[in-house]
Amino acid sequence: MTTDCLFCKIIASDIPSTLIYEDDDVIVFNDIKPMAKVHFLIVPKLHIESLKSCDEAHQALLGKMLLLAPKLAEEQGLNGFKTLINTGREGGQEVFHIHVHVFGGAAG
Ligand code: AMP
Ligand code: ZN
Repeated sequence: MTTDCLFCKIIASDIPSTLIYEDDDVIVFNDIKPMAKVHFLIVPKLHIESLKSCDEAHQALLGKMLLLAPKLAEEQGLNGFKTLINTGREGGQEVFHIHVHVFGGAAG
């Protein structure tokens, strides 16, 4: 837990979110400003700043996050979907706790 991190606060339930999945390693909730009809974020409970901060030690966790995308997308009624990992300020990252965006359906 990093005290000034928004997603760590969501993981700790200090800030509410619309949870769609949770296990020991990962939490998944709807994006507060959806860019599509369905738009959720797959977030590890471990505070990792970005994809740039990852190494081999995070390989299994990253794989788990990616494999969750099609399962949860299907549960949300999507036949196809897009994934996005913004990395670094120049890469459009705003929250510095790694997350995978999953979105699909009509823009909303
Ligand atoms: P990124 O630009 O990849 O760092 O994406 C951060 C995402 O977090 C944006 O799409 C925001 O809309 C989303 N976001 C910010 N605050 C919240 C929140 N409290 N609950 C859910 N999503 C959030
Ligand atoms: Zn964090």
